[in-house]
Amino acid sequence: MGIRADLPPVHDQLTGLPNRKLMADCCRREDERVGRDHTTYSILAIDADRFKLINDTYGHEVGDKVLIALADSFQQSIREGDYCARWGGEEFLALLVGADLSMAQVVADRLLQTVRGIQIECGSTTITPRVSIGVAEHTPDESYPDVYRRADAALLTAKQTGRDRYVVAGNTQDPQFGSQA
Ligand code: GH3
Ligand code: MG
Ligand code: MG
Repeated sequence: MGIRADLPPVHDQLTGLPNRKLMADCCRREDERVGRDHTTYSILAIDADRFKLINDTYGHEVGDKVLIALADSFQQSIREGDYCARWGGEEFLALLVGADLSMAQVVADRLLQTVRGIQIECGSTTITPRVSIGVAEHTPDESYPDVYRRADAALLTAKQTGRDRYVVAGNTQDPQFGSQA
């Protein structure tokens, strides 16, 4: 059988990561699974720090290279069976299957460390990208868009409090701090 041109693509062309559509399908499946099995999952909302500045300083092509390097580092930092997608632009989403909040923080920390090791040579300078992360664990009665909203609110706090860190979402609108820099 040939390639099904009628099927929508499910991977991001630049990074090769699952795209938003595939990730949303994975999250929906995970919602069904936790409902059935009474387990849990966590979501990491990840956003490249001051990425516009990288584009503006070095050009869009270098920006693309940085996105590819970030995507590779995320894949290195998650377990087999977990997912990391390009959610849009310079934003990524990781779905950590079976991970509670403490496990998710370990992964977020590992991910920050891996990103801190990235060095992209560009002429006479070396670009060292950074990311900020919001961490949220699924709670009973939530669906993934609710978990994502809390992770995204925590991500905003990570941005507002200095970037290059993760922040853990509380069950309320009041995120607690994670560790960082
Ligand atoms: P912050 O730390 O607050 O997230 O700042 P930021 O500069 O990362 O955020 P902002 O939203 O201002 O800029 C995001 C930039 O990401 C702007 C957009 O052009 C760039 N971008 C989005 N998708 C791509 C892409 O595929 N390639 C490149 N090179 N740039 C992209
Ligand atoms: Mg950004
Ligand atoms: Mg962004």
